[in-house]
Amino acid sequence: MPPVRTSIFELLKIGPGPSSSHTIGPMRAGYDFMDRIRELPDNIRLKGEDLEIRLFGSLSATGEGHGTPRAIMSGMIGFLPDSCQPDILSQFDDKDAPFELDIHGKVITYHPGDIIMDAVQHDYPHSNTMIFRYKAGDEILLERMYFSVGGGFLRWQGWEEPERGEPQFPYKSMAQLKDHLRANEMRLHELILANEMSMTGMTKDEIYTDLDHVIETMERAVELGIQTTGILPGPIGLQRKAPVMYERAKKEYFQGPGFLKAINAYALAASEENASGHCVVTAPTCGAAGVIPALLFMLKRHMGALQDEIREGLLAACAIGFLCKHNASISGAEVGCQGEVGVASAMAAAFMAYARGYRFQVTENAAEIAIEHHLGLTCDPVGGYVQIPCIERNAMGAVKAYNAYVIASTLDESYQKVDLDKVIQAMAQTGKDMSRNYKETSLAGLAVSVADC
Ligand code: SF4
Repeated sequence: MPPVRTSIFELLKIGPGPSSSHTIGPMRAGYDFMDRIRELPDNIRLKGEDLEIRLFGSLSATGEGHGTPRAIMSGMIGFLPDSCQPDILSQFDDKDAPFELDIHGKVITYHPGDIIMDAVQHDYPHSNTMIFRYKAGDEILLERMYFSVGGGFLRWQGWEEPERGEPQFPYKSMAQLKDHLRANEMRLHELILANEMSMTGMTKDEIYTDLDHVIETMERAVELGIQTTGILPGPIGLQRKAPVMYERAKKEYFQGPGFLKAINAYALAASEENASGHCVVTAPTCGAAGVIPALLFMLKRHMGALQDEIREGLLAACAIGFLCKHNASISGAEVGCQGEVGVASAMAAAFMAYARGYRFQVTENAAEIAIEHHLGLTCDPVGGYVQIPCIERNAMGAVKAYNAYVIASTLDESYQKVDLDKVIQAMAQTGKDMSRNYKETSLAGLAVSVADC
């Protein structure tokens, strides 16, 4: 297996909710396919009359509820996730509204409702498969099979790892990462930064500028969420809870029980923004976009953390996310919610420990403890909406992350018997053994027992 080559900004991506694999990945697919049509020779491009788009697996099972068609349409008219505002997406809410797609001299009329929700069970290499076809009658002029593999990452048939520089400190596991840290007497965030620079060619200043944009987006999601009241979109009629929770925390001066209420309020806030289709940061996915922001907001607003501490904590959190992605998965469709809220909680615990000044052993222990207690967590969103159990689950993930940090930073490091590599291995195996019905298909669990929502 090659070393970890994921970039920080592939893991922490800015984009619209509510589900990175159902919105950010498909939006990129829509954008990419239109680009490829435009690159066809004139004689082929101008022949085209129609588009056929088919969604499979969990995209088919829960794509409507997750807003996949409107994300694809937004991509097809030229928007990418980090430039896409909610009003762009909402123009595609009417499934029957016709849209004229401009393909360099060729205009094709397409409706969001034309996207076909195909088989949930299939044999394609990844659950979240999309097939795009550009056609003239029955003749297929261009076909591309895309895979939305979680966290907003997009792959396609024949995809190869993009060429980029080699990581300065290659690693595949936490054990190898620690060897580099010891041998080079460096800190975890320095190594992640050095690898990012050698792989992408970015300077430290450029990385920090982009990281600050990520931090601002996380903070804005929390700020908006604690101020916004009302009912979330979709048929469930779910009440936003963050503002009420925040007011209670404020009355208790964010101390004692008020401290816990504040963590809950901040996680609920960012998750409710995600459920509204507003801009969040995949950390590591949209569905889990409330966990890290909750602790980040807590650290900045109530614990006096400096910007550099926040940046360094996020870089340490990325190390955990990279390892989980590399050796297991961060996709609910592949391994259930342990890969989303579980990984987010581990990243948040590491973030908290590192930003508070603890070194890599406490940071690793905090991440390990957090993920250990999410093993086996299934993904069964009610009605296919990233609301129940997702929103409260983010609050639970944030509280567990804080508690994992408390355990890891209070007890002696030698008490720790499970290392991060082992728990990631267990997560991967648990994901393999998990029934497909519990992997973002809404075919089991809460999605079935609360089907009347
Ligand atoms: S249950 Fe977890 S994995 Fe599934 S959609 Fe919700 S947050 Fe994502």
